[in-house]
Amino acid sequence: MDYIDPHIHMVSRITDDYETLARMGCVAMSEPAFWAGFDRGSAESFRDYFRQLTEVEPRRAAQYGIQHFTWLCINAKEAENVELSREVIAMIPEFLDCPNVLGIGEIGLNKNTRNEATVFLEHMELAIQYNQQILIHTPHLEDKFQGTKMILDMLCGDSRIERSRVLVDHVEEHTIQHVLEQGFWAGMTLYPISKCTPQRAADMVEMYGPERLLVNSAGDWGPSKPTAVPDFIFEMRQRGHDESLIRQVVYDNPRTFFGQSKGFDFKPR
Ligand SMILES: [Zn+2]
Repeated sequence: MDYIDPHIHMVSRITDDYETLARMGCVAMSEPAFWAGFDRGSAESFRDYFRQLTEVEPRRAAQYGIQHFTWLCINAKEAENVELSREVIAMIPEFLDCPNVLGIGEIGLNKNTRNEATVFLEHMELAIQYNQQILIHTPHLEDKFQGTKMILDMLCGDSRIERSRVLVDHVEEHTIQHVLEQGFWAGMTLYPISKCTPQRAADMVEMYGPERLLVNSAGDWGPSKPTAVPDFIFEMRQRGHDESLIRQVVYDNPRTFFGQSKGFDFKPR
């Protein structure tokens, strides 16, 4: 089945992963800007990273017939440095017209600190000013519930935010309902050591239905599995779900959500 991975960090993956993903049916992917496994020292280092996301990765993906899209920001882990964050935010508009850019992301919270919230709000302002979609990272484990609540409060506190153009990622059983009820899109991240499994994701589709739900692998520099979306497809088939329901979650939904961005020039095969 053709599918789209809406959240995967290909800069940290080897070229063989592109080939494997292509064989598994991946036709497009979106790569939010994130941490590099270490804190970067200057805004110039982000400029190089944004060039990698807008120039290098699309070319690498295209060699395997995969369309690559991206989101730009300074992530929550590095947002603790507000001065650096402001320099990076000021530079982002230079890249917003690159052909594969879908919006601002993945912004969010990590340890739910005041500085992280300040930088989150300044990213929100940037997205509004430039009419960009937003992709959001929610914190992990014990910080997730409180962090998701803080994020939803900041988003809902600004009437200029179009909720149908915001994706809140890494939802789990205790946060998914709040996200969907408020009108946002929700992403379930399939990850071997934390977050969600293919089985739990299938349970949540059964409980909440497929509307505004996405699944992704978040494949990154840590222990992760870039082929996790096909694992979800396999799990759904094992349970006897219709191909059309599975396809809605892994292909139609990402197309609908991304299609709200002018950068999403997707060509189905
Ligand atoms: Zn991520």
